[in-house]
Amino acid sequence: MARNFGFAPIKGRVIDFDRNDKRVFEYVLEREPSFALCIGCGGCAATCSAANFTEFSLRKLNILIRRGENDEVRKIVDRCMLCGKCTLVCPRGVNTRNVVFLTREAFEEFDNYAI
Ligand code: SF4
Ligand code: SF4
Repeated sequence: MARNFGFAPIKGRVIDFDRNDKRVFEYVLEREPSFALCIGCGGCAATCSAANFTEFSLRKLNILIRRGENDEVRKIVDRCMLCGKCTLVCPRGVNTRNVVFLTREAFEEFDNYAI
C-alpha cells in the first residue's frame, strides 16, 4: 500500500526543441538582431515595472521565445507595459522593449496568416 507523504514526485517535463515552433523567435531575431546577445542575466526582470504588479518576468519570456514555447509566451507577453526601463539596464544592449513589441506583432501576423 502506497504511503501518503503529503507530496508527490514532480511529473517529468520534456521540451522537444525539434518540434517546437520557432517562427516567433525567428521573426523577432530577424527584425531585432540584438536579441541574439541576451545572456539571461535577469537585469531586465529585476527592474521591470510589470514585475512589480504581476508574475511577469522578461528573462523568462526571452527564454520561452527562444525555446519556441509559444503557448506560454502568448499567456504572458501582454503583461508588459512597454515602459522601456528594461532596455535602459540591459548590459548587452538588447532592445528588450522592441523584442516584446515584435513578439506581439509576430502573433498578430501568424494569426492573420492562419485565417
Ligand atoms: S538584461 Fe539583457 S542580457 Fe540580461 S536577461 Fe535581460 S535582455 Fe537578457
Ligand atoms: S518594457 Fe515591459 S518588460 Fe520592460 S521594464 Fe517595462 S514593463 Fe517590464
